Amino acid sequence: MSDLRFDPETRRRNMSAIRSKGSAIEMQVRRALHRAGFRYRLHRRDLPGRPDITLPKYRLAVFVDGCFWHGHDCIQGHTPRTNTSYWGPKIERNMERDRVNRKALEGAGWQVVVVRECTVGADIAGLVSALQAQRSRT
Ligand SMILES: [Zn+2]
Repeated sequence: MSDLRFDPETRRRNMSAIRSKGSAIEMQVRRALHRAGFRYRLHRRDLPGRPDITLPKYRLAVFVDGCFWHGHDCIQGHTPRTNTSYWGPKIERNMERDRVNRKALEGAGWQVVVVRECTVGADIAGLVSALQAQRSRT
């Protein structure tokens, strides 16, 4: 079935629903960091890719990635299959931008962590425990 069954308005609403789901994940990460007592900054424009969350003290940048927008190789990253000719190139560009930005950050001495929609619980737990381990060493 083609995606023509979606008028532009419906598609716009669907896509904004996906975007706000992304920011809901970001809120989960922020709450977990805050609860564990870590200080962070949001969406720093002076860093490549404008990381969603940065912890300057640990020189750590966190990206919260929706699987669809960032072309993750998982079930959620593969929807919608129906209109790949429309979304494919956009998502390819996102993935290329992600690669370039993350390499630039690492080149500047930042650790880069990606929290993904499909593994959000485990990713947050891993992030917090890695930070706690670093904090206990300092
Ligand atoms: Zn995924």
